[in-house]
Amino acid sequence: MREPQWFVEDEKGWKCLLCPQNCSFESNSSSLGYCRVRGLQEGRPYLPGYGECVSLVVDPIEKKPLYHFLPGSSILSTGPAGCNLSCDFCQNWSISQNSSVPTRYVSPGDLADLSMAGNSRGIAYTYTEPTIWFEYIADSAPLVRERGGAVVMVSNGEINLDPLGKLIEITDAWNVDLKSWSDDFYKRHCGGNRETVLQSIKTLAGSSCHLEITFLIIPKENDDPAEWREMAKWISGECGADTVLHISRYFPRYKLRQQPTLIETLMNAREVFSEKLSHVYIGNVSIERSDTVCPSCGALCIERSQWKVSTDGMLNGKCASCGYSLNIVHEIG
Ligand code: SF4
Repeated sequence: MREPQWFVEDEKGWKCLLCPQNCSFESNSSSLGYCRVRGLQEGRPYLPGYGECVSLVVDPIEKKPLYHFLPGSSILSTGPAGCNLSCDFCQNWSISQNSSVPTRYVSPGDLADLSMAGNSRGIAYTYTEPTIWFEYIADSAPLVRERGGAVVMVSNGEINLDPLGKLIEITDAWNVDLKSWSDDFYKRHCGGNRETVLQSIKTLAGSSCHLEITFLIIPKENDDPAEWREMAKWISGECGADTVLHISRYFPRYKLRQQPTLIETLMNAREVFSEKLSHVYIGNVSIERSDTVCPSCGALCIERSQWKVSTDGMLNGKCASCGYSLNIVHEIG
């Protein structure tokens, strides 16, 4: 059985310090943490979610979404059956908030082998919240890298700084959700806090990992252009104007029943964010193309139509016409 990390014992019992939920467990009790993949069993920390995968599918990397990391490649994708947030609009609630979802155990070595089978270029820990799978990632990600694969994280960013630092050492690219500019939104809708997410994004931006950000726009909840402007200013200032931002369309799922985001709202948001950021894409919309255009000369560098990707206008991560650097990781290792 894998030794759990980030649990500390005091006079009252145990605490998990992996994420800002900082769950407490009474001595000699048996219970699960908020995320349901970590907890205490007969007074000892344990990891019931270790290696238990909810899904195992090879996806286009653009689906994560990552548009500037190994564009046009495919990646094995998996995740745990749980989450350390409880967003009432969760688009994947059937696997993140459901205690009876079926899982399949895959050992770290088998996962690493599968990650390099067929046309897969590595592993993406995604679908739910992968950081709560810390020990499984710590055991499997280095094996993926040993085989020459890439390690991708798709996360809500609600992780404490020390464990984040450890994960940064063994991963290559992250997409982090920034769900709102309002801390009140995080508290009311997600059971989380905005400051930790901002801290994670800032830390990743200053690390060796490639970073992209996703913002799901929900009508009446986080669609105020004044807040978008604040967010764009912060991203540009703390992470750089060439940080990739995905504006994603919301559909009614789980507890929130608002109508889907209007296409017009997404277009307006792209305009606002583009005042500060060079690479803003609209996602979750089938009619929308999301090409990469050179911010310097306007040449078409990457064409995307659904999951078909042509990188003919890019050379070594730069614009093939003028040589402008596009903040694209085109190869690893
Ligand atoms: S990782 Fe899970 S058990 Fe640990 S503090 Fe967060 S929610 Fe609680």
